[in-house]
Amino acid sequence: MNAEIIAVGSELLTPARIDTNSLWLTAKLNGLGVEVIRKTVVGDERNLLAEAAAAALNRAPLLLITGGLGPTEDDVTREAVAQALKRRLLFSEEILKGIEERFRRLGRKMAPNNRRQAFLVEGAMPLPNPHGTAPGQWLDLPGGMIVLLPGPPRELEPMFENHCLPLLRERLPQAFIRTRFFRVAGMGESDLDNRIAPIYKPYGNPVTTILAAEGDVQIHLRARGATEQEAEALAEELGAKILAELGDSVYSTDGTPLEAVVGRAVLARGETVAVAESCTAGLLAARLTEAPGASGWFAGGFVVYGETMKTKLLGLDEALVKQHGVVSEAVAVAMAESARDRTGATYALSITGEAGPEVSTPGMEPGTVWIGLAAPSEASARLYRFPTGRERVRRYAVQTALHLLWRKLKAS
Ligand code: AMP
Ligand code: MG
Repeated sequence: MNAEIIAVGSELLTPARIDTNSLWLTAKLNGLGVEVIRKTVVGDERNLLAEAAAAALNRAPLLLITGGLGPTEDDVTREAVAQALKRRLLFSEEILKGIEERFRRLGRKMAPNNRRQAFLVEGAMPLPNPHGTAPGQWLDLPGGMIVLLPGPPRELEPMFENHCLPLLRERLPQAFIRTRFFRVAGMGESDLDNRIAPIYKPYGNPVTTILAAEGDVQIHLRARGATEQEAEALAEELGAKILAELGDSVYSTDGTPLEAVVGRAVLARGETVAVAESCTAGLLAARLTEAPGASGWFAGGFVVYGETMKTKLLGLDEALVKQHGVVSEAVAVAMAESARDRTGATYALSITGEAGPEVSTPGMEPGTVWIGLAAPSEASARLYRFPTGRERVRRYAVQTALHLLWRKLKAS
């Protein structure tokens, strides 16, 4: 089944507040096999909300609306839903008693405005709210359902768990969702899509989405089935085909980040890693040590940002640096070899490049980066041209260095 969510509140249209309820609700709905096909954020405006609610109901049989159930004039969800359905609002003495009782218990006086919260859309069933004054509302309609939920997460969450889930379970056809999550390195988003689109396109189910960050592309598969087995079989079938196509480029099938995958592999072999960084100035070391237990396999490294530090700290030959320039294959290789020698680590990665916007080597393009790897048997370096933007170049360089080491570990 499909669902839509509308988050109500003018504050959600400012830079100061974010709609987190819809994320929480989406996870719960997915757990029931319900797919959220659209989310809308609407300010506290009755006509706009009525319009959005009517349109959503035309598209999906289940509509959840969060927020706008407060006592003040700007909380218009009840009125807007009544308007959208062309129904009246009916006053409930029973709900009012409940609200008055809550105020009495808390030793506070009820403001006249709280009476607004005792109105139900004609035909609605109230959903108890032990954590606040506004009850939720459940409406069974000829072709669907509308659920009105309070905005504050600490009110919405228990209300959904205790009162909506049971009602939804009674009404929903059994459906299950199974997912696959692959992380890919060493390939751009469009190259990746070119390769796997012919594989996933023929499948309407599972749904495939591709998300890209610097040097790290994620593939998400969501399969739906009437039984757990059916959903699992669909996810497995498409997942296996994609894995077969991508081979070694997939470094993680359970969400584990690249540094942890690398760390695990190095640790399992009883080996260690060191780094020598110029333009990333420690970012690679920081990334490697994000993995818990890094002390078991990460030796340490050198931040050799300035030219003289490459000779002073790593002992690079001054003539070699002068001859080839700091951003060069020779320097990247020498940095990696020296870091390996001086730390005694099994492997050393080196990064030297132009993060930009200004360059230290006249004529060199920002984004030009040499990444070196020294291993027991050999040392080499590769040239990369990353998309510009100082932070992007640095993040790409770190991810690519990790990937280089990972490929080495897989190959040896
Ligand atoms: P309301 O029910 O509209 O009076 O909302 C009361 C409060 O709940 C707001 O001030 C927010 O702090 C919070 N809230 C409302 N909507 C959301 C949402 N979609 N996500 C997270 N918090 C929300
Ligand atoms: Mg509000």
